[in-house]
Amino acid sequence: MIRGETVSSGAPLDCGDEGCPSPDGPKVLCSGAGYYIGYFCDLCGPYSRESLGYYATTEQAETALAEGWPERTTEFRPSSVCDTGQADD
Ligand SMILES: [Zn+2]
Repeated sequence: MIRGETVSSGAPLDCGDEGCPSPDGPKVLCSGAGYYIGYFCDLCGPYSRESLGYYATTEQAETALAEGWPERTTEFRPSSVCDTGQADD
């Protein structure tokens, strides 16, 4: 589930479920609305959207992830979980 809070605004870094692995940082994720930067739990799925909005392409989202986006900057390297050019509807 997507929570209202972002990690950068004080939400916990992990998904909140015991036994789940800690994320290694924000990633480029996709939804029907487009690509966004958020946190993804290997067991629960995406649980936080960090970017202010959505990006039309994974390249734009990865650039934002690498260079920073309106809500925060990051030292983590981008990691895409979506196939390029494919939106998950
Ligand atoms: Zn989890």
